[in-house]
Amino acid sequence: LPEAALLRPQAVDIARMLPSPSVEDDKYRRGVLAVRAGSDRYPGAAVLCVGGALRTGVGMVRFGAGENALARVIARWPETVGLPLDPLDHTDLGPGRVAAVVVGPGRGTRPSDADELRALLESDRPVLLDADALNLLANDGRLTALVREREADTLLTPHAGELSRLLSDVDRSAIEARRLEHAVEAASLYRATVLLKGSTTVIAHPGAPSFVSPTGTPLLATAGSGDVLSGAAGALLASGLSAREAALCAAYVHGRAATLAHDGGPISASDLLEGIPLALREVR
Ligand code: AMP
Ligand code: MG
Repeated sequence: LPEAALLRPQAVDIARMLPSPSVEDDKYRRGVLAVRAGSDRYPGAAVLCVGGALRTGVGMVRFGAGENALARVIARWPETVGLPLDPLDHTDLGPGRVAAVVVGPGRGTRPSDADELRALLESDRPVLLDADALNLLANDGRLTALVREREADTLLTPHAGELSRLLSDVDRSAIEARRLEHAVEAASLYRATVLLKGSTTVIAHPGAPSFVSPTGTPLLATAGSGDVLSGAAGALLASGLSAREAALCAAYVHGRAATLAHDGGPISASDLLEGIPLALREVR
């Protein structure tokens, strides 16, 4: 990363980081992403997260959830490899297969979800934590210690409310007033890359310069758009980008996708999925 130039990364910086399609590609080389999102109550979060990964060019999504979410994901994305999931069975994380994991969107905070999160954090794969995975992390010192001790990359993608809980309930208005400082504090506390979402998206990494994403529009403030972002960032992690690169690229592309979908008109999170290939084409 050319540090100084990237404080507000431009399209050319993003293009340099993004994986480029090659004749040598096969689906494993492009990256297998495990998605642990959705629940019987919130299956849609899983549909959006998986869609975000697929539209960003992942080699394969391996999806594990209960029957309802699994059926809905397969119905929308038949290319998904579904796993009927025993929450404690993580054999799909075996060597040579899963390159990265996304956990949290619409997942729930039951004890079985905490068990799942613990097992994922103990794996040697890059892991992205969003939504309920962040809520579990915020209330559990053992999970926090696991995150801090990880050798593989960890990417946290909170909005201001989730970041407030990660920082022991620091006031939300304090976060909104000093977004970058709080993202940096969380990155250092968890020894992880932090992508703080909101009206501006900032990316912090322990002991390294922070970034502000130059793209985005208030049209992104709609239910499910964060689930799309987590899938997109997960796809980039699975392709071999570092957590910091994946965060920068995903935030940039997600912001442009919102502007390009529907020619800048109001969008739903599902429409955002259709904007991702347009944004990737524009950047490349
Ligand atoms: P979530 O809260 O998890 O659904 O994520 C919301 C997504 O929308 C994130 O990518 C935010 O950065 C983005 N977003 C929310 N509000 C705004 C805003 N006012 N301007 C630009 N982007 C926003
Ligand atoms: Mg969210």
